[in-house]
Parts: sequence; structure tokens; C-alpha cells
Amino acid sequence: MPAKGKHRRPKSQRFARSIAVAAAGGAVLALPLMGAADAHAATPAAAHSVTQTAAAPAAAKTYAVKGGDTLSKIADEQNVSGGWKKLYSDNRSVIGGDPSVIRPGLKLTIGQKAAAPAAKSPATATQAAATTTGSGYTLPVQGSSIGTAYKTAGAMWSSGYHTGVDFVVPTGTPLKAIAAGTVVSAGLGGAYGNEVVIQHADGKYSQYAHMSSLSVSAGQTVTEGQRIGLSGATGNVTGPHLHFEIRTTPNYGSDVDPVAYLRAHGVSL
Ligand SMILES: [Zn+2]
Repeated sequence: MPAKGKHRRPKSQRFARSIAVAAAGGAVLALPLMGAADAHAATPAAAHSVTQTAAAPAAAKTYAVKGGDTLSKIADEQNVSGGWKKLYSDNRSVIGGDPSVIRPGLKLTIGQKAAAPAAKSPATATQAAATTTGSGYTLPVQGSSIGTAYKTAGAMWSSGYHTGVDFVVPTGTPLKAIAAGTVVSAGLGGAYGNEVVIQHADGKYSQYAHMSSLSVSAGQTVTEGQRIGLSGATGNVTGPHLHFEIRTTPNYGSDVDPVAYLRAHGVSL
């Protein structure tokens, strides 16, 4: 098994950040696909007034934050369309500026149907459909930036470089199978903590590491976008994130560029 201290790289933080900026710049190229997500982010302000007056009060409900809750956990459990970002933008006025800090007892409004008034518009329907690429592939996690990029050099990794990409997400963020496939392993993977490896139809493997909980087991088939567990900080990490790899075998050391792979399959990031 690889790499003690795989992610213990405090010195790389600044470097990683500059790469994240580059990645965000790259995402501009993908605007058509990001449109649906942007639309979600843009609607909540309007949705408040709409909900108050007419459209969907029946669908809205109030949720009292419990100890241990995170926005992503609530969004997942309550099936919030648009995920924790939507939940956050709908409740920004009560949550404040930091989505990672929510007090127990806080009252969140859930289930505003922001899309309902606009649903008559064919354009909106098209955008909603565009949240999946139609290519059979999807992002392993929604609403995240890339922290440490693929092949970032460093002596901390046994291979001499970072063998995947790190998506910076809080513990408890739902993780999705990037495409249909068969789970070849799910469990403790040394420095990777709890990890899942899935074999896909093209013979490539996707790996998801440092998870806080697993919801699949070896031998199970999964569909594109199916939840495989929650992100976390198990194994060798300095903080919560999803470490994600694409491999040509199930094993460490057969990595290929995961960002290029996802992009080649129509996924914007
Ligand atoms: Zn990593």
C-alpha cells in the first residue's frame, strides 16, 4: 500500500490554490453545461418572494437543525433538488456567510419549488435535463472546486506525484458513481481510508477515497450518479476531501488524468 503522508502537504496549499484558480478558469469553457447549476444559484432570491405569495407553499417546509447536521447531510436526507448549495442560497439570510457553520435549532426552509413557476418554459426543462451530461458520466461530487490537481509533484507521495485530484468538500457530502459499473472493492484502503473502486464498461476504474461512510459493497453494480457513500477524512489527510482517481487497473499506480478523462466523457469541471 502506498504513501504514508500522502496528503500531509501543508506546504503545497498555496500551490494547490493557484491550480484551483486555473481549474475554475477552465470551467468557463463549459458554460452551457453549467447553466443549470447557475440557474439554480440565481433563482433563490426570486424564489423567496414567489413562495411567499403563491407558487409552492405546499412543498416548502421548515427543518430544525440538529447537532451534527451539515448542509450537505440535510440536503441529501431531505432530497433537496440542487443540493446543499441550493439549501444554502435559500437560507443564506439565517445561516450567514459560512455554509459550514450551522447551529442546532436553526430553522431552515426546505423544498421551495423555485423551478415551478418557470416550469412552463421549455428552456427551463432543457436546463434541468442538462444537469446530467447525457454522456453516461457525471461528476463524483457536486459543487466543489479542485484542491490539489493531478500530477502535482511532491516527495510526500510514494509515486512522486499526486495520483488523483482532490475535490474540496465537507465531511458528509454525497458521492456519486461517475458512471455505471461494478464495485470491485469497498472498504478500508490504508492511506486512502475508506475507499470505493468501481470498474466501468470501458475497462477503466474510478476510485473514491477518504470516505466517512460507504453505501455500496464489492460485487454490486451501480448506475451513473448512484450514491456510493459520503465524503470524509479517513486515512492520511489533513482535512476532509474526496480524493478521486481514474485507473487502468483496480490498483494504485495505474492512474491516468482524471480531469481529462471526465472531460473526454462530456463532464464539465
Ligand atoms: Zn488526493
